This record gives sequence, C-alpha cells and structure tokens, in this order.
Amino acid sequence: MYPRAFHYHRAGSLEEAVTMLSQLGDEARPLAGGQSLIPLMKLRLANPLHLVDLNFIPGTSYIKGENGALHFGALTRHAEIENSDLAALIPILHDCAAGIADVQVRNRGTIGGSVAEADPSGDWAVVLMTLPTEVRCIGKDGERTLPLANFVKDAYTTVLAQNELVKEIRVKVPPQESGGAYLAFKRAAPVYATGSAAVQLTMDGEVCQDVAITLGCVGLTAIKAKDAEAALRGQAITEKTLATAMEAARAAADPQSDMRGSAEYKRALVAALLKRAIHIAARRARGEQVEVSPIYA
Ligand SMILES: Cc1cc2nc3c(=O)[nH]c(=O)nc-3n(C[C@H](O)[C@H](O)[C@H](O)COP(=O)(O)OP(=O)(O)OC[C@H]3O[C@@H](n4cnc5c(N)ncnc54)[C@H](O)[C@@H]3O)c2cc1C
Repeated sequence: MYPRAFHYHRAGSLEEAVTMLSQLGDEARPLAGGQSLIPLMKLRLANPLHLVDLNFIPGTSYIKGENGALHFGALTRHAEIENSDLAALIPILHDCAAGIADVQVRNRGTIGGSVAEADPSGDWAVVLMTLPTEVRCIGKDGERTLPLANFVKDAYTTVLAQNELVKEIRVKVPPQESGGAYLAFKRAAPVYATGSAAVQLTMDGEVCQDVAITLGCVGLTAIKAKDAEAALRGQAITEKTLATAMEAARAAADPQSDMRGSAEYKRALVAALLKRAIHIAARRARGEQVEVSPIYA
C-alpha cells in the first residue's frame, strides 16, 4: 500500500530539524533510515503529515573514540558499525550490527533511529543495555544526556519530546578482562528475532567479577535479568551456576505467544541462548577471537 500523502522537509542541521519539528507540531516526524517508519507508513499504522529528513545533515554519521568511550552519531548506519575496526573494540556491538536483517536494511537503518523507535523486537537496546550507554539528545531547550535505561520507557515509547532528537549514543569501553556476546535466534535474515540474549562479563581468573545480562523479544522492552546476573557474580562459571542463571532468565522473561512461538518456547529459547552467550563472552574475556552470527531456525 502507498503511504498517505505527506510533505517532505530537508533539514540542514539538527538545530534546524528541531525548529522544523517545533513549528510543524504533532503531525511531523523525523526521518532517519526509514527502515521502520516507511514500512509503518505503508501499512498506514503511522500517518505523519510532515517528514523532516535528517539524512542530509553533515556530521551526524560517525564513530569516534574519546575518553574511554565510543561515540556514535545518530545517523550512523548499522553497516558502518558492522564494518568499523573501532566498533570492533567492543565485539558485542559487532555481533549486533552484523546480525540485523539483511544488507539492504543494514545500509540504511541507523543506530539513532533504532534507539528512538524502541521496538520491543529491536536488537540495539538489548545489547546497549549490557554496557554503560548514554543517549545524547537535542531539543528546543538545548542538549541533555541520559542513561539508556532511563531513555526507553515502554514499547515504542521513549522520553523524547515530539521536537527532540537523538544526537549521539555513547558507550563506555569495558575493561580489558571483559568480554561480551549477543545471540539472536531468527526464522530468516530479514525478520526480527524470536528471542535474544546479550551478556557482558568481566572475569578475574576463573571467577566472574561482574556481569550484565539482557534478554530481547520476551517483553515490552529489553529485560535486564538481575537474578541471572546475581547467580554468576562472584562465582566460577560452572554447570551449576549456569543452570541457576538459566532458570533465573526463564523466570525473568515475560513473552507473548505469537506466530514466532509460544511463551513457554520463548522462555526456553532465551535460557538456552543465554548459556551459549555466557560461554562465548567468557572465552572473549580470556582474549579468544570468537565469531558470532545469528542462529537461524
Ligand atoms: C525487513 C526489515 C527487517 C528488520 N529487521 C530488524 C532486526 O532484525 N533487528 C533490528 O533491530 N531492526 C530490524 N529492522 C529495523 C531497522 O533496524 C531500522 O533501522 C531501525 O528500526 C531504525 O530505523 P531507521 O534508522 O531506519 O529509522 P526510521 O525508520 O527513519 O525512524 C524510526 C523512528 O525513529 C524516529 N527517529 C529516527 N531517527 C531519530 C533521531 N535521530 N532522533 C529522534 N527520533 C528519530 C522516527 O521518527 C521514527 O519514529 C528491520 C527493518 C526492516 C525493514
């Protein structure tokens, strides 16, 4: 289906985009890669009267290392992150970027658009929640920076005002003895995952000193599996601690039964993905190079 007719506005700067959104009001939406917004418009699930295009704003697509953090401009495409040596410093980011849909979507879709969309099935929030991540926003009253955990409020809902934009995503580089992994289970490449698990852990010899675990596609937002983290923190990674963490992940998941699988199936799935992700993260924390790609049904 064709989208409803709309007016197209091309912004020359983020400040100008904010002004345009303020003047055009509630019927206006920013356009980044269009990989979520345009399909929704074609399905008439979104019907904005005005689109403010961010794609031609200079200096909004970059990956920079500064003060122990990686900075991603909002318009940085998934494919740029997939192919970046700098982003590969945090392997879990590469796992995520390389696993999103197909090459066409990865060439257009942006990290800023993904975070702003807050799709419960999206990959970025799940991965970024395992790392100290901040979202820098720009609006009518200037800029503000907030932790990702405070940015996403609910499914498809963030703290962004109608005339406010994501400007940058900042991710602190984890310590040397840290390793992460993101595993998503998919029915095919160009579809969202059925379930996913992201793990970032820091090892002290054989003991897991610290760990962050997030589950994807099994709730209205990415779910932080705190009891699963507690099962591993300060412990050696053994079959026993893994089993406790898996059981805690199964309990933390809050999935819906749908065409991708039953709720019980998804609980079992994320627990199994978590176990594999922990093993890979621990190997990476020991300095091993481990390739990860999505698991297909
Ligand atoms: C076939 C297909 C398969 C896909 N599979 C996956 C998948 O497996 N995993 C996954 O994570 N994603 C998947 N996606 C979505 C894809 O990753 C999109 O890139 C992502 O949802 C964000 O889209 P975008 O950058 O194209 O933003 P758009 O679609 O342009 O915008 C999305 C929303 O965010 C708003 N927005 C955009 N940029 C900003 C900004 N800087 N500040 C504030 N608001 C902004 C827009 O107004 C809109 O509401 C898929 C998409 C398609 C078409």
